Amino acid sequence: MLDRRDVLKLSALGAATALSGTRAGFAQGKDKPQTRIVFLGTKGGPRVETGRSNPANLIEIGNTRIVLDCGMGVSHQLAEAHVPLTTIKYILISHHHSDHNLEYGNLVYNAWATGLSTPIHSFGPKGIEAMTKTYWELNKFDVETRISDEGRPDPRKLLIAKDIDADGVVLKTGDFTVTAFRTPHPPITDNFAYKFGTPDGTIVFSSDTDYNPKLAEFAKGADVLVHEALYAPFVDKLVERVKNGATLGKHLLESHTTTEDVGKIAAAANVKLLVLSHLVPGDIAVTDDQWIAGVRKNYPGKVIVAKDLMELKLPV
Ligand SMILES: [Zn+2]
Ligand SMILES: [Zn+2]
Repeated sequence: MLDRRDVLKLSALGAATALSGTRAGFAQGKDKPQTRIVFLGTKGGPRVETGRSNPANLIEIGNTRIVLDCGMGVSHQLAEAHVPLTTIKYILISHHHSDHNLEYGNLVYNAWATGLSTPIHSFGPKGIEAMTKTYWELNKFDVETRISDEGRPDPRKLLIAKDIDADGVVLKTGDFTVTAFRTPHPPITDNFAYKFGTPDGTIVFSSDTDYNPKLAEFAKGADVLVHEALYAPFVDKLVERVKNGATLGKHLLESHTTTEDVGKIAAAANVKLLVLSHLVPGDIAVTDDQWIAGVRKNYPGKVIVAKDLMELKLPV
């Protein structure tokens, strides 16, 4: 079980720190954009348990807040990180596995419940537009009751979804650019890694992915590469432990990347800092040293293992 004292120990590298309750988040008093990542949920997979929360990240560039993936618990983790839900401007979904989208609609609902009045734009693989429409149908009774009974604005007008169907620029503002890159996650092909070009450096999130050397080209020279990671010795244990272990083990090996292979990607991309997140397993005690040992076989550079609510400031 991870607590704040554990998170504080992460500061060893100097780059990552735990969130303190006093930091409101925005780059107060700075005259240039300040970029940070807050790792909200760092375990891979849909099981909800104690310890690490399901996949979700906050990327903050100046005053713009982007949530990448909405695993179960994302609203609560944002609250824990002292980020008002009403300040979210964009939501990106990497792919439609439930550990990445289960709380997508509910995050926007929760923002609305706390006073959302400005639009949130969401982007994700084909299906996010349909999912958005269906979400409001599912919650029609409550939403319409609260609009008339409590005088709230119509939340359906505050969420603007857009399907992504190809690689390329998803979002471009004066401060930053977000680029999507399709990467295989068998059996899913509508699955996107995202690159954030910011004034403080380039960040790449791998999404869930099979070992994909092309991802190293996409991440070439990035300041921060956040890559999913599978601890291979766990798969053998899993096969023995759960009823569908054999099938699940096969899925894990075919559609995720072992720590050894993550090291190959980081080395080929020559990134400044590698962060392991979307950890499988996320629910048993694999130590940071164990996570990093596999990476070290192929990558000599800086690497850290993400923890829930860990903050990483750029430039690194
Ligand atoms: Zn996942
Ligand atoms: Zn997945």
